[in-house]
Amino acid sequence: VAGKNRYCIFDAAQDSSIRDHHESLERIRLALESGEFVLYYQPKVNMHSGKVIGAEALIRWQHPDKGLLAPATFLPVIENHPLAVKMGEWVTDTAMHQMELWQAAGLVLPVSVNIGARQLQQGDFVERLQVILAKHPQVHPSCLELEVLETSALSDMGQVSQVIDDCAKMGVKFALDDFGTGYSSLTYLKRLHVGMLKIDQSFVRDMLEDPEDLAILEGVIGLAAAFKREVIAEGVETVAHGTALLQLGCQLAQGYGIARPMPADKMPAWVATWQPHVAWGAGHK
Ligand code: C2E
Ligand code: MG
Ligand code: MG
Ligand code: MG
Repeated sequence: VAGKNRYCIFDAAQDSSIRDHHESLERIRLALESGEFVLYYQPKVNMHSGKVIGAEALIRWQHPDKGLLAPATFLPVIENHPLAVKMGEWVTDTAMHQMELWQAAGLVLPVSVNIGARQLQQGDFVERLQVILAKHPQVHPSCLELEVLETSALSDMGQVSQVIDDCAKMGVKFALDDFGTGYSSLTYLKRLHVGMLKIDQSFVRDMLEDPEDLAILEGVIGLAAAFKREVIAEGVETVAHGTALLQLGCQLAQGYGIARPMPADKMPAWVATWQPHVAWGAGHK
C-alpha cells in the first residue's frame, strides 16, 4: 500500500511539472507574439587598433511583471522545441533590421547572432536564412555572423559543414562560440570552415591566476593562427585581462571590461566615443 501511495505522489508531481513546462512554453510563445523580447548588443573590439569590429546580439525578455530576464531563465524551457527555431529567426530578423536602422544613421556595424546547433541542423535552414536576408536588401550578408552554440549537440557534422559552406557562399560569416568547452573542439575546427573562434570566457576569467587556463589560451590562439582563423576572447572583464591577451597575440575582445551589453539606441554614441585603454597600445583616435 505504501508503495502504491508513493507511486501516486510521484505520478502527481510529474504530472504537474509537465503541466508547468507546458504553461511556460505557452507563456514564451505569447511573449514572442506580443513583442516582449528585445535584443541587447555587446561591442566587439580590436584592443590594439582601437576599432569597433561589431556587436553580439543577446536576447532578453522584458517581462511585464518580472523585469528584464536573462536568456538562462527562458532558453532552457524551449530547448528541443520548435519554438526555439521561431525565436532564432526572430533574433536574426531583428538583428538585420537593427543593422538597417544603424546604417541609415551612418553606423555600419556587423552583428553576430547566436544559433543553437539544433537550429542549424533544420533541413531548410539555408532557405529560411535566405528569406530573412532578402527582407533586408540594404544590409550586406557579410555584416551578419552566426555564432554556433553547443557544438557538442552537432550530430551530423557533414550536413552542418555543408550548411556553413552554403551560407558562406551567400556571404554570411560563422564563429564557433564557447570554443574549447566542447569535448571534440579540434574535430569541429578541422571540419567546419568558420572564420572565427570565440574563446570561452571560462578560460579567460582565471587566466591571470591559473597557469593551466593560460596554457589553454596560448594553445587556442596558436591553433587559430595555424588554421588561419580569427580569434576573439569573450569575458574580458578587466584591463589586465586585455593586456595579457594582447601579449598572447589575441587582439579581438568582448567583455564587461570594454562594455556591457546595451540597448540598441545606446550603441552609436558608444562607438563614437570608445577609446582603448592606454595600456593596450597604438589605437588612439
Ligand atoms: P554567449 O553567446 O557565450 O554570450 C556571452 C555571455 O556572456 C552573455 O550572457 C554576455 O552578457 C556575457 N558576458 C559578456 N561579457 C562578459 C564578462 O566580461 N563577464 C561575464 N561574466 N559575462 C560576460 P547572456 O546575455 O546572459 O547570454 C548567455 C548565453 O545565452 C549566451 O552565451 C548564449 O549561449 C545564449 N544566448 C544569448 N542570446 C541568445 C540568442 O539570441 N539565441 C540563442 N540561441 N542563444 C542566446
Ligand atoms: Mg555568443
Ligand atoms: Mg560565447
Ligand atoms: Mg559563453
